[in-house]
Amino acid sequence: MATVELTCICCPMGCPLTVEVAPDGEVLSVAGQSCRRGADYGRREATAPERMLTYVVPVQGRLEPLSVKTAQPVPKALMADVVQQLRQLEVQPPVEEGDVVLENVAATGIPVIATKTIW
Ligand code: SF4
Repeated sequence: MATVELTCICCPMGCPLTVEVAPDGEVLSVAGQSCRRGADYGRREATAPERMLTYVVPVQGRLEPLSVKTAQPVPKALMADVVQQLRQLEVQPPVEEGDVVLENVAATGIPVIATKTIW
């Protein structure tokens, strides 16, 4: 059994979590949380951590880049692949906030969306 010490990042309280994980990856217990969100976070973070990713990409013919983000958290283990794909992206205006600028980033099934409008 492995013990993983974490800090819950779901709210500013930052509760310290202790997660016990069996050798087969099953979460045996989560302790230290003050609410259900913390328990859910501890389980995910100890076994399959995910993160939202924000980035900026160039816009054709513009000096100002476009800010983008993944529409959902992506597996932390795939972050390098996601960034590598975003580094090769250039968008063409106009782009509206919420538009999908890249489908299925790094084969995650998750799109990347614009977080602002560029006309
Ligand atoms: S366990 Fe609950 S109260 Fe504690 S940091 Fe996480 S979300 Fe906040």
